[in-house]
Order: sequence, then structure tokens, then C-alpha cells
Amino acid sequence: MPQRLITSKLASFGETIFAEMSALAARTGAVNLGQGFPDTDGPTEVSDAAIQAIRDGHNQYPPGIGIADLRHAIAEHQQRFYGVTVDPDTEVLVTAGATEALTAALLALCDDGDEVVVFEPWYDSYGAAIAMAGATKTVVTLRPGNNGYEFDEAELRAAIGPSTRLFLLNTPHNPTGKVFTDEELSLIAQLCVEHDVLVITDEVYEHLVFDGEHRLLATYPGMAERTVTISSGGKTFSFTGWKIGWAIGPTEILQAVRTAKQYLTYVNGAPFQPATAVGLRLGDDYFDGFLADMRMKRDLLSDGLESVGFTVYRPQGTYFVTTDIRNFGTDDGRQFCLDLPERAGVVAVPNVVFYDNKSEGSHLVRFAFCKKVGVLEEAVERLGALR
Ligand code: PMP
Ligand code: GLN
Repeated sequence: MPQRLITSKLASFGETIFAEMSALAARTGAVNLGQGFPDTDGPTEVSDAAIQAIRDGHNQYPPGIGIADLRHAIAEHQQRFYGVTVDPDTEVLVTAGATEALTAALLALCDDGDEVVVFEPWYDSYGAAIAMAGATKTVVTLRPGNNGYEFDEAELRAAIGPSTRLFLLNTPHNPTGKVFTDEELSLIAQLCVEHDVLVITDEVYEHLVFDGEHRLLATYPGMAERTVTISSGGKTFSFTGWKIGWAIGPTEILQAVRTAKQYLTYVNGAPFQPATAVGLRLGDDYFDGFLADMRMKRDLLSDGLESVGFTVYRPQGTYFVTTDIRNFGTDDGRQFCLDLPERAGVVAVPNVVFYDNKSEGSHLVRFAFCKKVGVLEEAVERLGALR
């Protein structure tokens, strides 16, 4: 057996925090507010469509770019919600979740040594995918301010420069729940155009904006030709295990992404593709009802966490609420999360794992509220033990 197994590119990436914390929850019987997945199924029209698709024989490899019906539904969705016109045949690529779209885009667009600028905290797969691409990560820190999480304009200007190859933006943002504003997106767009930078946006929480409005960076001046817009059906339809995602962008950039994608999975989820098309075409009542339900859960958990003594950064979007744990006499979020099942029977995620600058995130802990009301109430009651 060779001495050296995992490559130097991947050596620093152990098990994901989500797997670790879900295992901890399973082991201890704690309420799992760690990994972000709903504990109820999505709309039956959508799951029935998947069952029907299996019965109808949608069980072999779909086309490499995704089935036509889903690509058309994705294009219709962009028109309906954002007034953006995309060509379903050349500007849409179906992927194995947003994760594959992100990884394929980074592998396709970054060479060894290229610089990728991203806000920290960043979603966990970004670090690994940037490393697999041989690129390097430059971070700009998001910090809680008077208007929710903010960044320092000077820090952003210092980060995006002549050596930047790509800018990677997540809005609505996991784990902070930040929804980037028009003003912030204008500045980012202006810098990306000025320095001729490629852009990837991760918009998997696009239908989970409680305050403010979801805006597409691709719609800002000069951005359409340089931006890959990524999303997926997992969050919007509460079927996170189906892993149907997509990338939208200019034909030439998507061709590059497709080159990488076809050697990662080639294709996936044949029966889930037509079902996701059904989801994307659901009426406004579905999207409105989903949002209202999640907003209520955001408030329930945020208020509950506040009542037991956490400092709460109420999220504008996503599945997650970030808290400051220092009121409990510690700033070690990782140890706090490891101890939490025993102290209070709840599992959460330490935000520090999403930071390069560990001191920026060590005292922050994330809780997921995409759970049944009774589960959230039970979690808050248990957390009362911390008082
Ligand atoms: N991006 C962000 C910000 C996420 O939180 C997640 C987790 N669901 C993903 C991407 C991955 O999405 P998918 O499950 O579609 O691969
Ligand atoms: N996106 C989910 C979260 O942030 C987890 C997805 C995963 O386990 N990779 O919790």
C-alpha cells in the first residue's frame, strides 16, 4: 500500500460538517437542526410525477444536457420570476444538484493557480471544488452590522483585481441568511466588469427570501456574458435527495461547463427531471405558501433562540439562522456544538468551518429551521436547559 493516499489537494478536507453532525444527532437522539434538509416531503404533484415517470419508462440515461421538458421549464421559470430570457437548448445545462454545477463550472473555468474570490463564510463544497480545480481562494469577510451581514467595500476592492479569474457569489447566502442588495450587487458587477472576471452565482435559496428581493447578478450591466447562474430543485421543492440542479449561462461558457460535467456524472436522475419540471411550473400559490410557511418557521426559531439567550442574526433568506453563543460564556462554537446534544439534546453546526479566518467565525453557530413546527418547538424547549 503506498504511503501517500489522498492527494495534497484534498488532504485538508475531512468528512463534511453536515455528515459529522447528522451522525452525532443519530448517535445521541438529539433534535437535528444541523444539516439543512426538510423533515417533510414536498408537493405530491411533484412526487407523483416522479413515480409516473418511472412507470412511463424514464429510466435510462437522459440526454447529456438534460431532458428538453426540464430545460424548457427552467427557461420558463427564469422568464416568469425574473423576466430573463434564456434559450433552453443552448443556455441551460441540467446537473446533479447545484453541487455538480458548481464543481463542473470551477473545473471548467479555472486553471492551476487561478484566483477565485468568494465571501466568507462560504458554503462547504466551494473550498473543496476550488482546490480540486487547482485554483486558490481569496475571501472577503461578511460581518454582522446594523443592517444584517455586511462586507467592507475596501476589502472587496482589494480582493478583486487583475489576478482574479472568477468571482463566486451565493445569494441568498448560507449560512448567514443574507440577501445581497441592489447596491451591493451593482458594486460587485462593476468590479467584475472592470477586471474582466468570470462569475458563478449560487442561488439555491432563490425562493426563500423573507425580507428584500432576490436579484440575479447576471442581470446587471455587462454581467450576462460572463455569469453562470446556478440553482437546483432541492430546496424549492423540499426534495433535497433528488439532486436535480442546473446552470444557466452564455452558450460558450456552458459548453465549457458541460465538458467537465459529462465526465463527472455524465447525467443523473432521469425520472426526477420531468418531476422537477412539474415543480417549476406549479402555480404562485405553491411558491407563496412555501415561503410563508418558512417565514413563520424562521420567526419561530429566531424568537425561540433569542428567548433562551442566544444573540440572533435574523436571516433575510435561506433555511438557516446564525447565532452568537458568547452569552453562554464561550466563544468556541465547535466545542459548543459537540457538547450541545448532551447539554440540551439538540444538534447545530459551528459556522467556523465555513471560514478561512477562523477568529471571524469561532463564536457563531447555525441552526436550520426547515423542520416541522413541533420539532422546532421541542428544540427551543430543550435549549432552555442552557439558561
Ligand atoms: N449551495 C448552497 C449554498 C447550499 O446550501 C447547498 C446545500 N443544499 C448547495 C449549494 C447544494 O445544492 P444541491 O443539493 O442542489 O447540490
Ligand atoms: N446545504 C446543506 C446545509 O448547508 C447540506 C447539504 C449537504 O449535506 N452537503 O446544511
